Amino acid sequence: MLKTKEFNYRQLSIEEIFELAISNDCFYMCYQPIVSSSNSQLIGFEALIRSQINDVRLRPDNLIPYLEKTGQIIELGSWILKQCLVDYKTLESYGLKDFTMSINISPVQIIDHDVTLEINDLMNELGICPKNIKLELTETALISDCNKISKTFDRLREMGIKIWLDDFGTGFASLGLLRQFKVNGIKIDKSFINNIATDNDDFTLCSAVIAMAQRLNLELIAEGVETPQQLQILNCLGCENIQGYLIDKPLTLRDVITKWAK
Ligand code: C2E
Ligand code: CA
Ligand code: CA
Repeated sequence: MLKTKEFNYRQLSIEEIFELAISNDCFYMCYQPIVSSSNSQLIGFEALIRSQINDVRLRPDNLIPYLEKTGQIIELGSWILKQCLVDYKTLESYGLKDFTMSINISPVQIIDHDVTLEINDLMNELGICPKNIKLELTETALISDCNKISKTFDRLREMGIKIWLDDFGTGFASLGLLRQFKVNGIKIDKSFINNIATDNDDFTLCSAVIAMAQRLNLELIAEGVETPQQLQILNCLGCENIQGYLIDKPLTLRDVITKWAK
């Protein structure tokens, strides 16, 4: 897999391992199903990057912040967008119809780069309907450059793309920011779902977030759902869509085709 034959990762710093992954193109995308909480019908997938050098897996939550710091997320982000949209077309060719693709976007891709142009070109080139594409940004990302992000969201919305707020409840997003950025949906963070069946405070918090989203006409996904009890509670509270190991782990494209394309 690697060009460097004598590579021994134990002698390298984490940064050197990241650089090695970049120079050797050790990236691929996985896709985690998102389903309806009431009937488990497939809604779409969240695209999650994976990176492996020999037997070493690099965690995306370490890798992405490193790439954001060095600016390399712009190049990798472009590769991610293209790969996700090409894979979207492949899944369509295997019979999956009208499903959504949620793609994680770093604020650096918006602030230091024109992501709208890039997405527009890809959509036209591949013939993908924009209403099926969701971009996920963490709520902390919104406060990095409010003006630029807000303008970019406006353009993306005009193009028909949906904007989602990731990890809702863990950052600093206020209700005012939700209104200012006119997001289409929010993802309730896994940390609130973990104890929803056992902790009264987490249950109350989740029900309040779900009620708020319903009143504001926002779509909802609960992430990190691992047990049937969590699913049942979320369904009763009116959270329409869920994602988590209970349904499936992030899968390679091949496994998505085998398990989800009929
Ligand atoms: P995220 O966007 O909040 O993604 C959800 C994370 O939760 C993923 O971790 C997923 O594998 C994990 N997950 C999903 N269901 C369950 C569950 O039931 N139980 C548990 N324990 N975990 C679950 P992953 O893939 O390690 O990604 C971590 C973070 O790295 C992501 O958090 C996202 O912030 C970032 N990331 C991943 N892929 C990309 C990407 O393509 N672009 C960008 N910019 N960031 C990415
Ligand atoms: Ca996400
Ligand atoms: Ca999340």
